[in-house]
Amino acid sequence: MQSPWDYPDFDDHEVVHFVTDRATGLKAIIAIHSTHLGPGAGGVRFWNYADSASALADALRLSRGMSYKNAMAGLSLGGGKAVILADGARTKTPDMLAAYGRAVDRLGGSYVTAEDVGMNVADLVAVSKQTKYVSGLPVAAGAVGGDPGPHTSYGVYLGVKAAVKRKLGKDSLSGLHIAIQGAGSVAGGLARHAAKDGARISIADIDAVRAARLADEVGGTVVDPAGILTMEADVLSPCALGAILTEESIAALRVPVIAGGANNQLATPVDGDRVHARGILYAPDYVINAGGIINVASEYLGDADMAGVKAKIEQIPGRLNTIWDESNSTGRNPAAVADTMAQRLIGRP
Ligand code: NAD
Repeated sequence: MQSPWDYPDFDDHEVVHFVTDRATGLKAIIAIHSTHLGPGAGGVRFWNYADSASALADALRLSRGMSYKNAMAGLSLGGGKAVILADGARTKTPDMLAAYGRAVDRLGGSYVTAEDVGMNVADLVAVSKQTKYVSGLPVAAGAVGGDPGPHTSYGVYLGVKAAVKRKLGKDSLSGLHIAIQGAGSVAGGLARHAAKDGARISIADIDAVRAARLADEVGGTVVDPAGILTMEADVLSPCALGAILTEESIAALRVPVIAGGANNQLATPVDGDRVHARGILYAPDYVINAGGIINVASEYLGDADMAGVKAKIEQIPGRLNTIWDESNSTGRNPAAVADTMAQRLIGRP
């Protein structure tokens, strides 16, 4: 039987907690990858995994990702992630959420939980009745915290502009064609910002109603989801799923720039080399999409007002340029450069 230390995604994680609460049926894994920069912070995913090995692999991979993302966003937070192993019916009870909250609380602040796939703000409010180590709670309009989506969108928009400046030498998105995969929270915010600048927007979403509504709002065009990755455009902005950049899809791309908010866009690390070899400028996902976590972190740490959060998000283009500079001088692809920078920041050069 494989031990956790032998998992391919095990990366010297500081601690991995296995949580069982017989009374409520809660089964969860809380993985803390690094507390070098601060408490391990990252969301909790509520998911029906094929087996517990897949759940552990997800917790290990995602918690390492949070270490990198938080470090590259300049936050005083380490990396952690929790997964709750849901049953087939995805039964989620208040008692189960309370048990999860107590489990987080027992860790004494070494892990700070937040929202992820399968969890919503109401669930987090329930968790917060048991522990103060939680962020992403509802806040008054205009206050720091709450829905991370608009902040993520703003950072992605700034990142798209930085990439366009770098690769195409343009100061504005005016007249440029942006192909956006997804029409959800992040995609919507990006489309609105870009449309205001005069960009031409193409939108694809498997939810045709959502795509049509957003296209209507921003004066864009709806595209078949099957065709968005092969469209000729100035920028491809993946804002839906992970693992969309594969050997096959990369070979068919017809864009000079990829800059979008989706997590884990590269299917494998080698795909970073493939994008680079095609001369396409890539904005590493966890750097360009950090606006949301920057906002959530300030809510938790109480270290900035709204202007301060905005100022931190506005550092994303500078960070991307530093990565692209190093990529230029070393010949390494930007995703690999970002990983190395993050490892240095968390004391693991
Ligand atoms: P969302 O659920 O609001 O929107 C995602 C959209 O993608 C949905 O409309 C869905 O129908 C669509 N979609 C799914 N599969 C598709 C496909 N094959 N082709 C086209 N569209 C498809 O989610 P979101 O919050 O906008 O997040 C989008 C991405 O950004 C995710 O990868 C997420 O992990 C990442 N992200 C989000 C945030 C945030 O603050 N919300 C922060 C960092 C990263």
